[in-house]
Amino acid sequence: MSRTLLIVKPDAVERNLIGYIVGRLERAGFKIVEMRMLTLDETKARSFYAVHEGKPFLNDLVKFMTSGPVVLMALEKENAVEDLRTLIGATDPAKAACGTIRQEIALNIEKNSVHASDSDDNATKEIAHFF
Ligand code: ATP
Ligand code: MG
Repeated sequence: MSRTLLIVKPDAVERNLIGYIVGRLERAGFKIVEMRMLTLDETKARSFYAVHEGKPFLNDLVKFMTSGPVVLMALEKENAVEDLRTLIGATDPAKAACGTIRQEIALNIEKNSVHASDSDDNATKEIAHFF
């Protein structure tokens, strides 16, 4: 068993898509082991996205991620990190595979509805960042 972090981003909370996302996760075999709703402050959002320091989209991304409530979840499953990345699809919904969460509900490359950890190391760090 391994763990990964999922965030329901503000665009999806705003459009009442928490239940849709939870349903997709549970049907795909993920166990929700921690779950919390809150609005990120700038410090928390910036430190979470520290890896993107210097990228042109960072300031707008922080603004977006602090614009409303998010739902944080630690998820457990065999091969959790890779399987969740497959389930959510590519960063840009226009390029996301058919049937992925982002292809179905994301608005654009920034407001892409969900975050998922991209490695086991980052999953451990990201879960510790919030729980
Ligand atoms: P996440 O980390 O949220 O799961 P990701 O790993 O698919 O997404 P990253 O490259 O880590 O993509 O980018 C983090 C987030 O920054 C993206 O999910 C998106 O919200 C935003 N982002 C990435 N690239 C762009 C871009 N070119 N323009 C605007 N926003 C972007
Ligand atoms: Mg990422």
